Amino acid sequence: MGLADIQDLDLGALETWCADAGEPRYRAAQILSWVHRRGAGDFAAMSNLGRGLRTRLAETFAVGRLEPSHVDAATDGTRKLLFTLPGDATGTRAASIESVLIPQTDRPGGARDRLTLCISSQAGCGMGCGFCATAQMGLVRNLRPAEIVGQVAAALRLAAPEPVTNIVLMGMGEPLANYDAVRLALEVLTAEWGHAISPRRITVSTVGLAPLIPRFIADTRVNLAVSLHGTTDPQRERLVPVNRRYPLATLMAACREVPLARRKRITFEYVMLAGENDADGDARRLVQLLHGLRAKVNLIPFNPFSGAPFAPSPRVRIVRFQEVLLSHGVHATIRESRGQDIQAACGQLAVARPAA
Ligand code: SAH
Repeated sequence: MGLADIQDLDLGALETWCADAGEPRYRAAQILSWVHRRGAGDFAAMSNLGRGLRTRLAETFAVGRLEPSHVDAATDGTRKLLFTLPGDATGTRAASIESVLIPQTDRPGGARDRLTLCISSQAGCGMGCGFCATAQMGLVRNLRPAEIVGQVAAALRLAAPEPVTNIVLMGMGEPLANYDAVRLALEVLTAEWGHAISPRRITVSTVGLAPLIPRFIADTRVNLAVSLHGTTDPQRERLVPVNRRYPLATLMAACREVPLARRKRITFEYVMLAGENDADGDARRLVQLLHGLRAKVNLIPFNPFSGAPFAPSPRVRIVRFQEVLLSHGVHATIRESRGQDIQAACGQLAVARPAA
């Protein structure tokens, strides 16, 4: 068996390892800062550590590095990174995943430009949403923390010298279904010894695994987005099968339970499907559902993929839907669709590229 990747450890675990190795616990932060902040690829380079410790580390751990095997560029500047992840002898399957770099220029008079990185938490996805291409792959496997953080490190290198300003876990997979790895990866992304990214600039999107939502809010300080997509149980069930396990009442109760004192709002995502969930009546029911919640709604134009059993709502319908929400005092935005020509938009990530 190969060595464990040190990037799969959080600070606490490495502190324990240091203590067991007879080293002061503070060494752990120094080591992880070499790995994550400075991108050191091997322990020999860690000049503020003693030779003995460097040797022990090298005998125990590897420092893996993800490199995209392919980068596609869309006409709108969006770039899609394809990663081929190796399997191993312990039964971990080889897998392909994608990340997307999305440049955004805010409206005139608005704030500065953004560069948003969208990363995957699983290879494929087991949630089975009918309007999402990733669902058709099924779940291949969970990503390790190192594979989640590795996407960020690779994208930072690709984007440099331009900084990545926002990170969203909205690529392949259901983040809360890979809870421990996602929690650890978020620690690495936000910690001072890690990438030191402000949690306000990170958003995790969940299909709505209700029991994990309060725990997630307690464990992290990042933003939460919930994929709603429907306003009655029969309707949401058709689109999001997990609604059978966690129906709307359960999901909304979990969101209401969350102490949002220091957090702005929960974002509710709503994909606009023609004739399916896009009527004025749906918008009014959405208003009721969100009553009393600190919420905002992000309307997502449906990005079609081949074989999709849905059609996108016409633009005028989306705008009208937004107007109904706004007129009832519900904050609502329309997500701009990006990278469609390279199949990089929401719900289009499915790794169709033949292994070349
Ligand atoms: N598993 C997470 C992350 C999914 S991707 C979740 O369910 O939230 C982020 C968003 O894109 C989700 O709201 C998802 O429902 C939406 N989405 C999926 N397929 C889409 C498509 N074809 N067009 C537009 N949005 C889509």
